[in-house]
Amino acid sequence: MAGAYDGDFSDGHTAALHEVVAQAQNDGLHINSKTGDFTEHWKFADIRAIDPPRADTPFRLTSQTMPDARLSVASPEFVDDLRRQAPQLFLTGFAQPTLRRNLALVILVLCILGLFLWQGIPRLSAPLAQLVPAQWAQKFGETYRGRLLSGVPICKDASGTAALAVLTKRLTNSLSPPLKLNVVVADKAQVNAFALPGGHIVIMRGLLEKAENSDEVAAVLAHEIGHVSRRHPLQIGIHVAGIGMLVDLFTGEGSTLMGIAGDVGGLLLLLGYSRDMEREADAYGRNLMVTTGLSTGAIARFFARLEPAAKNGEEIGGEIGGYFSSHPPLKERIKAAENTETGRRALNDTDWMALQKICR
Ligand SMILES: [Zn+2]
Repeated sequence: MAGAYDGDFSDGHTAALHEVVAQAQNDGLHINSKTGDFTEHWKFADIRAIDPPRADTPFRLTSQTMPDARLSVASPEFVDDLRRQAPQLFLTGFAQPTLRRNLALVILVLCILGLFLWQGIPRLSAPLAQLVPAQWAQKFGETYRGRLLSGVPICKDASGTAALAVLTKRLTNSLSPPLKLNVVVADKAQVNAFALPGGHIVIMRGLLEKAENSDEVAAVLAHEIGHVSRRHPLQIGIHVAGIGMLVDLFTGEGSTLMGIAGDVGGLLLLLGYSRDMEREADAYGRNLMVTTGLSTGAIARFFARLEPAAKNGEEIGGEIGGYFSSHPPLKERIKAAENTETGRRALNDTDWMALQKICR
């Protein structure tokens, strides 16, 4: 038989503190005021402990049916009675039914948010990318380039710049409608090249050093032009901006995250292109090489030569590194490049030499 214990009761609506007798019975907790003014009956399922029981402080309870009410009982025997009748009150942490339910809800919301980030925004970004005015994309790309290169100088040698313009023009001459491009070489040893929104393409010095001839550079450039033409960088950019905005919304830290990502090499490149985007750019680049009258085997030879270096962990970045580490597999891409030899070079010897020295 459960004991009856003295306690204090407040209904939470008035300041009055009532002296009560509390008794844990089979059907719940019975609270009777000593003056006989009221009685309350709290079912065990509705009761919650305000804080864990402690020897030196009264044990405080409330009920979901009266969330503002407080019952406070000092007797340790009362706690023992409750422990027998309603052990769930003394479970802590995630074992508490309400907490478990809340946690499930939080996980559900996070899953939906995650799904939206990885599926919703990417799906939206393709049609959105078609809507962005060229001028905005151009500006966005320029800002992004500045951020990604942070401090890495753009190579400006006059003959080299002229040679790069010749190469770009040769590749894009046949395009209709014409594609507005801004191709630069950045003074960095990494073997890499990437496209940014608004027709910006960056080739790293390391790529020029590893290339054996201008065709290999042309082939990489043609692939990047493929990304530009399909507006892939803008899609990724919208994806990144979307994530940034959402993160901002939930944490107020989105712009910080974007900043950090920009500094360490870019969320843009971190997210990377999808398998389909790479296949599209490969096919586009290959066609461009054919239209320009250049050998399509160049890219295959270049990557075959780079493979051991990549496996040795040499500095091969983002786009180019993707050939060795991820999708589509290198072998598939080399095969898809099909070796057609036209005997023509993308640049004459003078221009090729000038391009190789663009960063001097
Ligand atoms: Zn690519």
